[in-house]
Amino acid sequence: MNKDIEIKSALEMLITEVEPLSPVSLNLMDTLGYVLAEDIFSPLNIPPFDRSPLDGFAIRACDTVKATKDEPVTFKIIDFAAAGKPSKMVLGPYQAIRIMTGAKIPNGADLVVPFEETEFTEEWVKVFKTYNSNSNISFMGEDIKEGQKVLTKGEVINPPEIGILASVGKNKVLVYDRPKIAILTTGDELVDIDKPLEEGKILNSNSYTIAALVKRSGGVPYILPHCPDNLEKITNEITSALQWADILITTGGVSVGDKDYVMESFKKVCDKFLFWKVKMKPGTPLTAAKYRNKLMIGLSGNPAAAFITFEIFVKPVIKKLRGLEKVYPLQVESTLLSNFTKVRKQNRYVRAITYYDGGKFYTKLPDSHSSGVISSLAKVNSLLFIPAGMGPFTKGQKITVELLESEDLLP
Ligand code: AMP
Ligand code: MG
Repeated sequence: MNKDIEIKSALEMLITEVEPLSPVSLNLMDTLGYVLAEDIFSPLNIPPFDRSPLDGFAIRACDTVKATKDEPVTFKIIDFAAAGKPSKMVLGPYQAIRIMTGAKIPNGADLVVPFEETEFTEEWVKVFKTYNSNSNISFMGEDIKEGQKVLTKGEVINPPEIGILASVGKNKVLVYDRPKIAILTTGDELVDIDKPLEEGKILNSNSYTIAALVKRSGGVPYILPHCPDNLEKITNEITSALQWADILITTGGVSVGDKDYVMESFKKVCDKFLFWKVKMKPGTPLTAAKYRNKLMIGLSGNPAAAFITFEIFVKPVIKKLRGLEKVYPLQVESTLLSNFTKVRKQNRYVRAITYYDGGKFYTKLPDSHSSGVISSLAKVNSLLFIPAGMGPFTKGQKITVELLESEDLLP
């Protein structure tokens, strides 16, 4: 069995075991946050015709050759063109068509003079200078050419991409399906948050934290009924969840306690056991196994350990299943605003609060780093990796932190 493995090996093992989920075709408005499973080519030119980018008069540039401030050239207004209502007239010498933004350039015209640069009545318009041909025209295909690739497979669909997809007429889009993540909490001491607390019991917070982390990672969380520390019950829940879920995540029961049954259960259910225990704190007893193409990942029950190991190990897996190529968090250089004096023999991930001010990142560390302490998770948006034996760290020191929510900023 792979036991006590390096963080990097654990991550690599998990990542190589999964592939992006099968593509599904969704209505455009349902694709926000999904990842494109196809390259998008435009079937049309944008704009689809030469059009006016402003309100003014469409004329012929050659008729303006003699125009000056003192001796303007006068044009006869013969028609009106508005957006969506093109003029059917063909423009002749010294004729003008009053034209609005977005309207098709009339036949014969090669220039639009803005209202502000003219004098006009309903019948005529005066032009006071010479213009080059093709001034103030947005040409057909200037923005996007027919056949041009506008978006690439693997890109996340955010509001700008929704707009681009709409403008090329894509109302059905092929995207990678979102992973369905089953969440199973275990432990005799836990009660759900709407039930009364009896002596020796605590409220189950992990179901909610993990579900929220899954959502934020772009997966779909399904909270399974909580399981007591009972091998048979845990095994049954896991077996049935693996029928439909893409990943199963458990919390609690992965250590060496008398009632820790999760690893045993993984071993019963899996086709391939991956590892138990990773060389880091918190969350050392991380456990992983595979059933068919589905991963089972067992996290420690300690709330902060579960949070941190989810961010480090589970989030990249979810991102890969979603079809993303960049699955690891953005690392930035920051200045430490707290002291961290403990030097430990193990690698550590320390919860951190990072902010950006005046072109630089700054990082504060909360007072408690105990894996069982949940209060110091408040506002945590980053993690500081401290390799074994490294430290102490002092205020003002340069550090590298991993930002937990920075998908869009990855280079
Ligand atoms: P375990 O990993 O089962 O040894 O649990 C470690 C610690 O985390 C124990 O103090 C548990 O009571 C606590 N714990 C386990 N599961 C949860 C949960 N779902 N919500 C909150 N605390 C938990
Ligand atoms: Mg337990």
